[in-house]
Amino acid sequence: PKPDPTMTLRLAGLSRNYGNWTALKGVTLELPAGSTLGLIGPSGSGKSTLLRLIAGLEPASSGTVHLGNRDLSGVPAARRNFGVVFQDYALFPHLNVAANVSFGLVERKWPRARAAERTEAMLQLVGLGGLGDRRVDQLSGGQQQRVALARALAPDPELLLLDEPLSNLDTNLRDGLIRELQLLLGTPGLAAVHVTHDQAEAFRLADYVGVLRGGQLVQFGPAGQVLRQPRDSWTARFLGYRNILPGNPPRLLDEGLVSLVPPDAGPGATVQLVEARGSTLELVLAPDGWAQPLHWTGHVRELNELPAAGSRVGLRIPASAWRELEP
Ligand code: ADP
Repeated sequence: PKPDPTMTLRLAGLSRNYGNWTALKGVTLELPAGSTLGLIGPSGSGKSTLLRLIAGLEPASSGTVHLGNRDLSGVPAARRNFGVVFQDYALFPHLNVAANVSFGLVERKWPRARAAERTEAMLQLVGLGGLGDRRVDQLSGGQQQRVALARALAPDPELLLLDEPLSNLDTNLRDGLIRELQLLLGTPGLAAVHVTHDQAEAFRLADYVGVLRGGQLVQFGPAGQVLRQPRDSWTARFLGYRNILPGNPPRLLDEGLVSLVPPDAGPGATVQLVEARGSTLELVLAPDGWAQPLHWTGHVRELNELPAAGSRVGLRIPASAWRELEP
């Protein structure tokens, strides 16, 4: 078949059983060409399993993976032209940096000179220019992960698959690498699927986000939409929302949109807890007549005076602060 220039990644009814345990259940989604998909979900929800199925590292029990108009079902991992980066780098310790990066190029029988040129370009790209002769075990964890990234990118993959690529790194290194990944993943035409347990990392890199729960894709959509419009109470809680009011339908109150006003200028609430974190202030409020507390986060400078525990405040809650959730 002719290559499809749109290169949409299509998963349809993708399932995976281990014995009689269902790790993944009917995952269906379409990722537009060149986009980055962040897969999030609790530990054991099936994120890595889904990534391995897309990579072709293990077969699906049912369902299909298409890239553009190509059905990848029978195509072995090595023939998918995907770049894969795992948490533990999986570099070849007996090879130097350049040999690690050019590994896939040699496999694909690139001419020597072109492979060498491409290898150096990839090392430059990840900030390791000129280090091709180093032994892998002489590099820091962050540098090793960059080598893994350069190796995955060298053969110009159609899809980059990242499984917790940063989780073995310390915070400073992570932050630097996230910024580099942001630039890389913005490269036109490079699609990626990124698995992480770290939601902040996921949302920094993703154009689309998929939320997995117990092997099912409970929500999928543009990252901003998923973040602002979680579908149900579980997803809202998972994404960090705290003001979820039971009811029919349950509702979510976006705490960022609630303002505090003088006690007589709006519905009243009693301050239960005040927690200052630098210029950010977190309050737990007991609004009159509510069965549960309301969490409020804001900037100290938005307030005339710092509320004290036990004091009264008024609330201004615009209609737009409420979102209906599915039960
Ligand atoms: P996550 O990446 O979200 O933490 P995984 O995809 O690793 O989740 O695992 C999903 C579920 O499938 C877990 O309950 C896990 O124990 C199970 N599982 C994963 N791989 C295997 C396997 N090779 N054999 C049996 N069970 C597995």
